[in-house]
Amino acid sequence: MIDPLTPDDPVQRIDPRVAGRRFRANGPAAHKVLAEAFGIESVGDLLRHYPRRYIDRSKTAPIRALQAAVRPAKQTRLVVVGGESPGVRAGQDVTVIGSVQRVETRRTRRGQPMVTVTVADGTGRLELPFFNQPWVAKQFRPGMEVAVSGRVGTYRGRLQLQGQQVEPLRGEEGDTVHTGRIIPVHRATEGITPRTIRELVFRGLQRLGPIPDPVPADVLEGEDLGAEDAALRAIHFPRGPEELRAAVERLKFDELLLLELAVAYRKRRLERHATGVAHELGADLAESFLRALPFELTEAQRRVMKEIAADMAEARPMHRLLQGDVGSGKTAVAVYAALIAIQSGHQATIMSPTEVLAGQHLRNVQAFLAPIGGRNVLVDAAPVRARRALAGQGDLFGEPVGEPVGEPVDPAGREPVPTAGVPGPRFALLTGSVTGKDRKGVVDAIREGSVDLVIGTHALVQEGVEFADLSLAVVDEQHRFGLHQRVLLKEKGAAPDVLIMTATPIPRTLALTYYGDLDVSTLDELPAGRRPVQTRIARTDPERLDAYGLVRAEARAGRQTFVVCAAIDESNKTEVRSAEREADRLAAEVFPELRISLLHGRMRPAEKDANMRAFADGDADVLIATTVVEVGVDVPNATVMLVENADRFGLSQLHQLRGRIGRGSHRSWCVLFDESAEDNHEARARLEAMARTTDGFELADVDLRLRGEGTLFDVRQSGMPDLQLARLAEDADLVRRARARAFAVVDADEELAGHPELLALMRSTFSGDAAEWLFHG
Ligand code: ADP
Ligand code: MG
Repeated sequence: MIDPLTPDDPVQRIDPRVAGRRFRANGPAAHKVLAEAFGIESVGDLLRHYPRRYIDRSKTAPIRALQAAVRPAKQTRLVVVGGESPGVRAGQDVTVIGSVQRVETRRTRRGQPMVTVTVADGTGRLELPFFNQPWVAKQFRPGMEVAVSGRVGTYRGRLQLQGQQVEPLRGEEGDTVHTGRIIPVHRATEGITPRTIRELVFRGLQRLGPIPDPVPADVLEGEDLGAEDAALRAIHFPRGPEELRAAVERLKFDELLLLELAVAYRKRRLERHATGVAHELGADLAESFLRALPFELTEAQRRVMKEIAADMAEARPMHRLLQGDVGSGKTAVAVYAALIAIQSGHQATIMSPTEVLAGQHLRNVQAFLAPIGGRNVLVDAAPVRARRALAGQGDLFGEPVGEPVGEPVDPAGREPVPTAGVPGPRFALLTGSVTGKDRKGVVDAIREGSVDLVIGTHALVQEGVEFADLSLAVVDEQHRFGLHQRVLLKEKGAAPDVLIMTATPIPRTLALTYYGDLDVSTLDELPAGRRPVQTRIARTDPERLDAYGLVRAEARAGRQTFVVCAAIDESNKTEVRSAEREADRLAAEVFPELRISLLHGRMRPAEKDANMRAFADGDADVLIATTVVEVGVDVPNATVMLVENADRFGLSQLHQLRGRIGRGSHRSWCVLFDESAEDNHEARARLEAMARTTDGFELADVDLRLRGEGTLFDVRQSGMPDLQLARLAEDADLVRRARARAFAVVDADEELAGHPELLALMRSTFSGDAAEWLFHG
């Protein structure tokens, strides 16, 4: 008698003969391949390797019945009268069990090799044609038992099983695994076949005792879901479509429940343990900032500011996601939140993923704060640099462009707004390019509390910079967000409020899952007067010439153009139009009359700054750039964007790129050059979505559907369990159900003390950063 297996047993224990199979003389054993290729070590792991598809071999039929099904009508009637048809119809999926009679190879009239395998089962003969697969002849020998599955049909008047799947039956116990039922086809790889995986799963399930259910019975009952044991058996060997559907639903629910449990657990843990700062809303600083703004806030900005202010007034630390499309005015909201922190006597920080973006924030903050007496503390520390900056030689990419102390200059030329004796906020930049004495000055000021608002890159927190009293961290993640930066925000003392800004709109289902621990504020409105960018796709030469005509016309009207290229040089030998070569070509052949500037990531910073500044100042008509322009570049006079090889860009990246134009009051155009193959449906779908809409939420949904959640959000990399079955775009209802249940479970049992199996499941499925985020971050 063999011992029963447990899910924790290694795969080899299922059946050493099957697990030990080698597909090459010196190749690795099957179980080694499973471990290496798929990370499958235990029986439990194996059962989570769900089938990719199924072959229905539950209906076996004698060959004679198939012949009857495809015979011309008159004769069929005779057969029916004769009572010999067991009801097989043309177009139906069936399996025939028989033995190989003959294997013949010949050439078709076109000279291609064709192998015909003839199978007989005592009631008739069936020919299996294999075109252009000469090796098949070696795989079959007369006398071999096989199962042939396919759809009943004809080819040139002869019976054929369309989409034929032929599998040798080995005359062992294996026969019952591979035929006479709906069989799974699992993802396999070199060194292992679906057949071997199927056998391992089958025998594993046979020898496994009842599989324990991690989900509480009352939840299952409430959701009308079946047991884990039944679902895991049925997903591999379903007895019919309904059983399979129920199994898939149950296992999807497991995946989503686990995610939702994690976000509920983390959210409640933070709310329970961490005490934050109850900010003061009554003070004057944030209000005078709003009064001094040179524009009317949008309704959405007002609403979102209220949500944030209300959160910040609570002692419970804020964990809020601020999502808003490019240009929706997130920075003003961030600065408002920072001023609430500052007027309450604390410090704030705004962190960005890149130096470019930090530099952009600095300039925005400077302009926003000037009317209320804001000043850059670094100017104190480095007067020389400040003068240089004022003279316009400052660094566009992140080096401070300061104003003299005590003399705030409003770029719009308005008078400073009196702030009733409230001291102006002191701010500073801290990025990798702030070095030496400057750096020390800022770091000291941060520690001593003599700077109120620090603008920098994410590196700010990583490098152990210590704040005297940080109470608000704004994390601008643009579209590169992940758990990573969130984890690093852990602070000593009172937990700071955290506001995460993203310009990639997050589909609702994602906000409820991977971001489900955050409260969400949405800027779903652009400032008045913006005109949506018109987008077209160009595939032909005339379309390209048209686009160039547009560039010239806009240049004559005093406007500017971005040309975005995917790569900067020829070294990778792809057919991508490179920025450098394209710059030469456009300057020499296409736009000899225009002023052309170049920008790419491998330039020296000084050169990059000079070129970017020239474009921003209107000294160049066309800027040819790699995707460095994707974030943070703000040139309202630019009205045209041409994107070369647009088919190679992701949807969110295209959306970000396009956000660089349409920032002023002029009409703008985006032309996407598409050089993809006609059958590259995904690329075409992406570009067509871009042409159809400028709505970031709609595009995010399209992206989610096209690419799935894993690739989009780097979830796997961060140690989050990946979703094998659930698809957020399609399973929105299941997401909501799982979320409601998860929060109910956690709210009734915050530490999950009464649900050790759920806690164990979370511990075993979350790793790395995700585990840190879940249990400690
Ligand atoms: P985001 O960061 O959301 O992409 P920004 O905060 O950079 O957008 O804002 C884009 C531009 O719009 C900036 O020049 C900003 O000053 C301006 N802006 C922000 N809010 C408004 C508003 N309510 N009305 C007009 N312009 C605005
Ligand atoms: Mg911005």
